Amino acid sequence: MTSFVPPLRKTNPHLPFGDQRTAPWYGHDIISVKEMSRKDLEYIFGVAHEMREMVARVGSFDLLKGKILANLFYEPSTRTSSSFTSAMERLGGSVIPINEVHYSSVAKGESLPDTIRTLECYTDVIVLRHPEVGAAKIAADAARKPVINAGDGIGEHPTQALLDMFTILEELHTVDGLTVTMVGDLKFGRTVHSLSRLLSLYGVKINYVAPEILRMPAEIITELDEKGVSQAQYDVLTEEVIQSSDVLYVTRVQRERFKDTAEYEKTKDAFIISPDTLTHAKDKMIVMHPFPRVNEITPGVDEDPRAAYFRQMEYGLYVRMALLAMVLGKA
Ligand code: ASP
Repeated sequence: MTSFVPPLRKTNPHLPFGDQRTAPWYGHDIISVKEMSRKDLEYIFGVAHEMREMVARVGSFDLLKGKILANLFYEPSTRTSSSFTSAMERLGGSVIPINEVHYSSVAKGESLPDTIRTLECYTDVIVLRHPEVGAAKIAADAARKPVINAGDGIGEHPTQALLDMFTILEELHTVDGLTVTMVGDLKFGRTVHSLSRLLSLYGVKINYVAPEILRMPAEIITELDEKGVSQAQYDVLTEEVIQSSDVLYVTRVQRERFKDTAEYEKTKDAFIISPDTLTHAKDKMIVMHPFPRVNEITPGVDEDPRAAYFRQMEYGLYVRMALLAMVLGKA
């Protein structure tokens, strides 16, 4: 008897009729932004735009009817998990949420590859958040279905960076020529690791403002240097930096990544953005934050039209709808 060898994902003859096997992102994993080009981004944002219009017009539609998403979260999440759920449901698909890993077989010691190989028996695409860098790649290597990285420890958060880029484009209509200032925990913040890499595809200047112990990792600075990106580091947020910024990207100090609580306490309120901070900022500057925020932006800023962070969350829905449709061969 010959044993059954599962066919590779891209040549799987058992795929349901109607999938567009020629769609450019069909069957692809989304693990890192490192392989993405400017052309990829334009394509994703074109689809995200269409999603935005469709949601405004009809709310939900049946593009992914019959498809099932596994939403597997080993770390807390509000926006990423609920926006992926909303994205799938607005496209007519359904979701198996696994947030309480303590109640799944993970609590019995099941390995990540085994969990992934189980879930892909029941679903068409897997969204994974995990505390370890590289976990999404391990999952993708184990899976025949597409895996989307929803944050791997302090590594990357590619879908957040895509929605951040989409936000900048929707709000400011260009990325070329902008000055983007990232503030806060640039060492442990995975969103800024992915975002700086995507920004490097455009002609931008990036300012990094962080306490010494929370600086942007040297390997990312070097990577961007090699691409000729203009970068500058600061340990205080000067008036000059604020005035020159088109985007102020604020991040939370990532308490859960600190081994030493005293170090966290020392840095947690290093930068607090208040209405006063924005007094001399450009009228068209936008303030972004991946959220959750703790103390780094005071609620007083919320009323300022430059506060783009709630709109940023909404853009995330359209980008995630686009990505799901693309990897499932429908866009
Ligand atoms: N929600 C973002 C993340 O999962 C940012 C944060 O947690 O501070 O990385």
